[in-house]
Amino acid sequence: ATFAELGLPAPVVTALASKGITVPSPIQSMAIGDALAGRNVLGRAQTGSGKTLAFGLPMLARLAASGEKPAAKRPRALVLVPTRELAFQVVDSLQTYAAPLGLSVRPAVGGTPFGRQADQLRRGVDVLVATPGRLGDHLRQGTCLLDDVRITALDEADQMADMGFLPEVREVLGLTPADGQRMLFSATLDREVQSLVRRFLPDHVQHST
Ligand code: AMP
Repeated sequence: ATFAELGLPAPVVTALASKGITVPSPIQSMAIGDALAGRNVLGRAQTGSGKTLAFGLPMLARLAASGEKPAAKRPRALVLVPTRELAFQVVDSLQTYAAPLGLSVRPAVGGTPFGRQADQLRRGVDVLVATPGRLGDHLRQGTCLLDDVRITALDEADQMADMGFLPEVREVLGLTPADGQRMLFSATLDREVQSLVRRFLPDHVQHST
C-alpha cells in the first residue's frame, strides 16, 4: 500500500514525496494503520528502519484530525527518547510533516536553556520530544503538565533501559492519561522493556521487522 492508502493525510503524503519518500518501509507498512486507528503499538525495529515516521506520522495525523489547540504548558503528544542527539533528530524529522498540518514540535532536553523551553511550553506545544531527565525537571518545576497527552511514543526503549531511565519513564507514563494511546519502539524486547509493555501498553498489537 502507498502512504495515502495507509490513511495518511494529503499534506503529509505531499511532504513525504518532496523528501523523496514514496514507498513505506516494512515497519511503516505494518504499524501506520494500527497507529492511525488509535491502537497501542509495540514495534520491534532497528535504527534505519524508518521507525520515527512509523510512530510520528500517525501521531501528527491524529493530532491534526482532532482540530484542537494545545493549552499552555500542556503538550498533546509526547515522544520520549534516550539522548538529546536523538531528540534533535526526531524534532527535525517530524517538523517537516508537522508544519503543513499547522502543528508544533519542540525538544525538551538537557544542555539547552531551561527557560527558553519553559517559554515554548507556556505558548503551547503539540508534540514534545523529551529525554526523561529534562522532562522530569519541567514536571517538578511545574513548567510542563502531562494531563492532556493523548499519544505517547517511547523510542529506543531498550536504550532507555540500558541507560537506567526506566524509573523516570514509568513516572512520566504514570502522569499521562491511562486511556491515552501508547507506542513503544525498541530493537530488542528484553525483560525490562516487557515489564513496561505489560504495565503501560494494554491490548497492544506487535509488529516486528
Ligand atoms: P529511522 O529508522 O526512523 O531512524 O529513519 C532512518 C532514515 O530513513 C531517515 O533519514 C528517514 O528520513 C529515512 N526514511 C524513513 N522512511 C523512509 C522510507 N519509507 N523510504 C525512504 N527513506 C525513509
